[in-house]
Amino acid sequence: MVSPPISCLYACLLLNPDLAKISQLLVIQTCLQEFIGPSPTVLLEPFSNWQDLVTYDHVFVTKPRTAEEIQRTVSAASTCGLQVRAVGSAHTADQVFGGRGRVHINMSELALGGGKRVIMQPEIAGKRVASVKVTAGVTQAELNNELAKYGFVFHPGPLIGEATIGGAVATSAHNGFYHEPSIGGYMTRVKLVDGRGNIREFNQNSDANMMKALRCHLGLLGILFEIELEVIQQVAVNFQQVFTPLRNLFSPTFLRDLILENEFVDMFYAPYNSLTEKETKEVTLTGRVPKSWDSGNDLVLIRIINQTSAKRNFEDERPPSVPQITYNKAAFEAQLSYPVSVVKNLTDVLFLNILGIPAVDSMEYVMVDPNFTNGAAAMQVRYTVFQ
Ligand SMILES: Cc1cc2nc3c(=O)[nH]c(=O)nc-3n(C[C@H](O)[C@H](O)[C@H](O)COP(=O)(O)OP(=O)(O)OC[C@H]3O[C@@H](n4cnc5c(N)ncnc54)[C@H](O)[C@@H]3O)c2cc1C
Repeated sequence: MVSPPISCLYACLLLNPDLAKISQLLVIQTCLQEFIGPSPTVLLEPFSNWQDLVTYDHVFVTKPRTAEEIQRTVSAASTCGLQVRAVGSAHTADQVFGGRGRVHINMSELALGGGKRVIMQPEIAGKRVASVKVTAGVTQAELNNELAKYGFVFHPGPLIGEATIGGAVATSAHNGFYHEPSIGGYMTRVKLVDGRGNIREFNQNSDANMMKALRCHLGLLGILFEIELEVIQQVAVNFQQVFTPLRNLFSPTFLRDLILENEFVDMFYAPYNSLTEKETKEVTLTGRVPKSWDSGNDLVLIRIINQTSAKRNFEDERPPSVPQITYNKAAFEAQLSYPVSVVKNLTDVLFLNILGIPAVDSMEYVMVDPNFTNGAAAMQVRYTVFQ
């Protein structure tokens, strides 16, 4: 890193990123660039996550292409006393991106050695499973497209192909496979840049505790740049998409059996889809949903994946047409056109098209256990039981 000019050290010392004026942020931008050297470039940009629930008018952004460029960014931010966060595809709905005037390391341009973003690991004699080395900024869809060429698939991540592996590991994202761990459970080796700008490497054999922590770190344990993951052989599966009344889901045994008896289950609900024509007219006239509407009659889409040898029969109660007033009508219409049952490669049924998913309007939390005492105690019990 370049020796910091004294004027920049003062500017950083006096900076309050939450309150700084744009003129001050522009000075800090110049200073960060001085600290970093010619690359990567420091940008000053607005930030918003996918849902627009987290927005900052200004953050400093770098787009490193190598681990060394990440190190330079982290060291520069540290010299200036600024918090640094990696940003994947910003699909997390919560405040996990540092804040206004902080440094964002955008992972989209990062590559492994030789410019590649995904490298199949050679099969080594005696090795139980196949694995792949990826840059943390690779998206799940990108990874699976690449793996499909070699006859492999990475299945445990979230339902959207846009999430990056680094981002999904950080939030412990998972798919609807009941018997699978979250995505980090498949991580066997990690390289990251720590808060001092040093490169650290951890692997499953010698750093088991650290690897556990890295399975849900919310971006607080460094900037992951290289991740090794176990992958599985491509497999043909039965993919079933059936509709059932919401009422059925009120029964705990229905849900329990559905989840335990199938390898993968998830559900989508477009509310108000059972409104009658008369009720629909009333909504149009009054703007209110009439009391006669019964949410239990609304239909829920259940998506189920099983091995081809375990195809199960489900009653499909899809209606012939969509009522006029349906929350997210376009998505419900699209769902009605899905085939009830198809055999496909696992890769081809893993992700949903994000365009069909409505953005979140608002979020509300009820913290029943605000200091996590009961939750921690419960986990302690589980931990003891499984020791
Ligand atoms: C429509 C939709 C559907 C979803 N479906 C599911 C689902 O089925 N299952 C599920 O579990 N989740 C689901 N999610 C949530 C999503 O999987 C997570 O929010 C995931 O973290 C998004 O990945 P990202 O690349 O956008 O990460 P970001 O949102 O960019 O980042 C998330 C966190 O990870 C940190 N981070 C990112 N990259 C790195 C890195 N390289 N090193 C260190 N820290 C890093 C960031 O600082 C941040 O704190 C869904 C989200 C949306 C919008």
